[in-house]
Amino acid sequence: MAGRNFLFVPGPTNVPDRVQRAMIVSMEDHRSPDFPALTNELLDGLRYIWQTEEAFPFVFPSSGTGCWEAAITNTLSPGDRVLTATFGQFSHLWTEMCKKLGLDVVNIECEWGTGIPYDQFQTALAADASIKAVLVCHNETATGVTSDVQRVREILDQLNHPALLFVDTVSSLACMDFKFDDWGVDMAVSGSQKGLMLPAGLGLLCASPKALAMRHTAQLKRSYFDLDDMLKSNNFGYFPYTPALSLLYGLKESIKMIKEEGLSNVFERHARLAEGVRRAVLHGWQLKLCAQSREWYSNTVSAIMVPDHVNGADVISRAYKRYNLSLGAGLNKMSGRLFRIGHLGDLNEVHLMAAIAGAEMAMQDCGINVEPGSGMAAAGYYWRHN
Ligand code: PLP
Repeated sequence: MAGRNFLFVPGPTNVPDRVQRAMIVSMEDHRSPDFPALTNELLDGLRYIWQTEEAFPFVFPSSGTGCWEAAITNTLSPGDRVLTATFGQFSHLWTEMCKKLGLDVVNIECEWGTGIPYDQFQTALAADASIKAVLVCHNETATGVTSDVQRVREILDQLNHPALLFVDTVSSLACMDFKFDDWGVDMAVSGSQKGLMLPAGLGLLCASPKALAMRHTAQLKRSYFDLDDMLKSNNFGYFPYTPALSLLYGLKESIKMIKEEGLSNVFERHARLAEGVRRAVLHGWQLKLCAQSREWYSNTVSAIMVPDHVNGADVISRAYKRYNLSLGAGLNKMSGRLFRIGHLGDLNEVHLMAAIAGAEMAMQDCGINVEPGSGMAAAGYYWRHN
């Protein structure tokens, strides 16, 4: 098909030309005396992105899922109790991983379209001092729901509860505010292919000193993802095995871009772009978001409910085949009921207008009665005035 594909799934996101070019490198010796300069620059850069001075960032050749596992296996032992909440496909999968790894999972099932059930977390934690870790999905990509990590920290602090705070930042890091130190996070998990504007292939983890110390007593089996091995090599600027060199050079460039824009400006841009998309959905098309109220709205992904008589998968298929536009699918319980627009990473208003225009045409083709041009008008009005 002529013209470019418009990629608006909520990850992988568009890789900026600068980052693409930075990854075209000759292979080099990852044990050379020059190599630590790269490693150290990356780890420092990740501290900036995670807003931490005390914690230890790790880079694995994996995707985000690998670091879910690394967070758990380096801190916990079989039978340890963890508190989780499921309200979308990714919070569900992390919870399932805990079960597979032999943890004792206390899970609170929530309605999809809501997020962390703060009151129920408070009750569960107050009743049980043996909970070793609390898992929070900061941004549930499947439903476009953001939860308040700081509020979970406050609950733990009020109760003086010793549980570790684990946070999935896969679709929030470098897009929305995430203060590792200030929010008292113990393990944060992410991946390269979303806010960091890279291809998939790097799993990122950030560990507090408290979480890291637990590797000495944690009994869950681990080998490839053993933080001890990684730390021993990282301390000298190396990796315990062959690193994904091209991606590391891409990461160096993406961190540079984020620093040039400034983290707070990156967050502000994501918030502004997201609000424009929401105006298109709610005011223009007069459709509903999966996120049930403003409290849960995500600045990186909007999950748009389609009317009951339409299958969301048809809208996605039409958008792709006819307009070369990639929209995110409804996952699991939400299959067929919604489509998603990812608005994260390297993008601006006019990029997003393409997604809004294409989604609007595909919806009309599939029999959804949206007013032609209404999405663009609502988003454009917001962006022109804010
Ligand atoms: N967590 C969230 C919130 C995600 O959106 C994803 C993937 O989209 C994952 C975890 C899994 O990450 P990965 O696909 O990089 O393994």
